[in-house]
Amino acid sequence: MTYSVTLIPGDGIGIEVSGAARRVLEATGVEFDWEIVEAGVTALEKHGDVLPAAVISSIRKNQVALKGPLTTPVGGGFRSVNVALRHELELFANLRPSRTYKGVQSRFDDVDLVVVRENMEDLYAGVEFEQGAADTGEIIAEINKRSEKPVSETAALSIKAITPENSRRIVRFAFDYARENDRKLVTSVHKANIMKYTDGLFLQVSQDVASEYPDIEFNDRIVDNMCMQLMQKPDQYDVLVMPNLYGDIVSDLTSGMIGGLGVAPSANIGEKGAVFEAIHGSAPTHAGKNVANPTAMILSGVMLLRHLREFEAAQAMDDAVAKVIADGKSVTYDLRKDRDQSKAAKTSEMADAIIAEIQK
Ligand code: NAD
Repeated sequence: MTYSVTLIPGDGIGIEVSGAARRVLEATGVEFDWEIVEAGVTALEKHGDVLPAAVISSIRKNQVALKGPLTTPVGGGFRSVNVALRHELELFANLRPSRTYKGVQSRFDDVDLVVVRENMEDLYAGVEFEQGAADTGEIIAEINKRSEKPVSETAALSIKAITPENSRRIVRFAFDYARENDRKLVTSVHKANIMKYTDGLFLQVSQDVASEYPDIEFNDRIVDNMCMQLMQKPDQYDVLVMPNLYGDIVSDLTSGMIGGLGVAPSANIGEKGAVFEAIHGSAPTHAGKNVANPTAMILSGVMLLRHLREFEAAQAMDDAVAKVIADGKSVTYDLRKDRDQSKAAKTSEMADAIIAEIQK
């Protein structure tokens, strides 16, 4: 079987790291028919738009995409391609696994966590009212008529909307993910003690959904306490599910725990499509030098293979990455203790070493 997959090479180092991931994916023996479409600054220069319609239609058709990081053009007026992609394709779940690979320098040595973040609503949706604007004043006056807790007339507002539908969808996603991936525990993360209606609803829905999955353990944690516990006993946690803003923050925390940007993959998944990408950006200072670490992008490729249910190929690729990093001989400068560029492998050489390992 040949899989039709959309490939967005990306900007800056994106071109190098997505190229490396593509070669490693092909080395697994799984066959791909890549449909290459451009977004970001590359698309802006060629087609006058950071997100041409062809990108959305390609992902709609193929339902799976591998995406290199994109540069956000400097100067106002440009929509965020990542946010636009999530909304246009309704990619409601952001999946961020954080696992330590032996040989990567990090403060923790045995982390294996997955953050499942709701992508569509919450404070992060950006429904905001500017300080001093007429609309803002009208809304504040209306709130003050109806709420016992007054809002200052000088306030700016941000609206936190949490729905039962979107909460149920993301919590089910987390439980289904846990079941499919042989994980034992789902933790719902919230601040329901203070935000009783919004986070309280998220927690209530989490508890309801948990009762449908008796084979998976369930608990919940208040988000601040969750952060402390992740620092103190990360081994007690497994899959963490949470609303958008907490997910944005906690998933960076867990990525930091495993060594940061160079090794952290992700996926944005919806009912009709899935986009796999490294969490790092286009690192313009490294662009074109063949020095960027391709690991995060390659591990996003591992996630893509699992999504396609090519489990054997995914495992072979994951094992090969782990082996090359543990050996420490063919790794990019950022994975070396001395960070010596002259002794480090180039992006393409690290990919070659991973390919050689797969083919052993
Ligand atoms: P960045 O992730 O590109 O870089 C942050 C730091 O990490 C830099 O020092 C960079 O050199 C280093 N770094 C990142 N990835 C690396 C890798 N694979 N190997 C080695 N070092 C790596 O973040 P930034 O500098 O804030 O943003 C640069 C551009 O990327 C901006 O235009 C930003 O909008 C965009 N961006 C895009 C995405 C995305 O498309 N998903 C995500 C984040 C940032």
